[in-house]
Amino acid sequence: MSQWDVAQVRAEFPILGQTVNGHPLVYLDNAATSQKPRAVIERLDRYYRTENANIHRGVHALSQEATAAYEAARESVARFIGAPEARSCIFTRNATEAINLVAATWGREHIGAGDEILVSEMEHHANIVPWQMLAEQVGATVTVIPINDRGELDLDALPALLTSRTKLLALCHVSNSLGTINPVEQIIPLAKAKGITVLIDGAQSTAHFPVNVATLGCDFFVFSGHKVCGPTGIGVLWGKPDLLNAMPPYQGGGDMIDRVSFAGTTFRQIPERFEAGTPHIAGAIGLGAAAEYLMGLDQQALAAYEHELLTYATEQLQAIDGLQIYGEAAHKVSVISFTLAGIHPNDIGTMLDVDGIAIRTGHHCTMPLWARFGLEGSTRASFAFYNTLAEVDALTASLRKVQKLLG
Ligand code: PMP
Repeated sequence: MSQWDVAQVRAEFPILGQTVNGHPLVYLDNAATSQKPRAVIERLDRYYRTENANIHRGVHALSQEATAAYEAARESVARFIGAPEARSCIFTRNATEAINLVAATWGREHIGAGDEILVSEMEHHANIVPWQMLAEQVGATVTVIPINDRGELDLDALPALLTSRTKLLALCHVSNSLGTINPVEQIIPLAKAKGITVLIDGAQSTAHFPVNVATLGCDFFVFSGHKVCGPTGIGVLWGKPDLLNAMPPYQGGGDMIDRVSFAGTTFRQIPERFEAGTPHIAGAIGLGAAAEYLMGLDQQALAAYEHELLTYATEQLQAIDGLQIYGEAAHKVSVISFTLAGIHPNDIGTMLDVDGIAIRTGHHCTMPLWARFGLEGSTRASFAFYNTLAEVDALTASLRKVQKLLG
């Protein structure tokens, strides 16, 4: 048994104490967004009550305080992902914007006609569409690593896909739809050995286990604050500093310039180079608090507890007649996608909501993945370290009820 005190952890998340439709809230939509602990909520409150000012340009006390808090948050984020230098962590709106930034700057400079951008069949649309748009603009091709029936990457197919034309491998660390943990430690060196730049989409991994970009050896790593207990509207692009500084700016405006004249403009180095305009100051500070909160948890106990939730939920769900789980990777996080024979996922979601249970239905922004399984989508229950075994029981009881009524 793990040493995880879930009651104590839950007490840190005010939202979990409420009822929905007359039932205690059972929040199992964590892959879409996580709930926020008191530490984050109170940090945002404190910022707006006592520190609010625009950063970087002010000589007054509040501006300096806000600037210090914003830059301290960058330090926290850097430690959170094992980035050796805080300046290599660029604040963006979310993972999506971070990927678009790389596509629009690095991509435009390094990817040309006939080149290949390699993604996988399990990518979120955020790690497909920006590359398709770029490919269309420059005449490149998006190629795809297939997956097997268990929802794991087909590693046998990989070497042949890393061609002399492959300029970028853009791969999710963890699948948001299947929960699969991709063996990026094994894959990144294969790509790097061929001189291929690697972007890892860490939108789902960062919510479940510590990552270290330095040991991973990737070139870019992206994630969203709102999935790791932080606020919405803030995300991170990490990149190797030399790579980032060599990239053209993404957006032009205040803060990212060195000197401006009508004869021309010079740009600053990272991180300001990619943070044009007034950033989401409060969001960054809130994300810093979230990173500190998560780093303060017992990672071993957390991992053991989430594994226990996953194992128990898998057993309980599998025991329901006609329920089929998609994503049976040997290594996966606590995300379970399933179908229930003869019942549309939207009907399942609507009926579970009546019982106060929040799950997600549909394609989860991975349409090509579901096409691979001949489906339009699934019902997805995604568990966080604050969920309980009793909530798994509530989910299975409600599903059995749905089946009785609609099956
Ligand atoms: N990649 C993955 C794997 C995701 O799960 C998500 C969010 N569902 C994203 C990218 C995009 O994140 P955001 O919408 O916060 O930009």
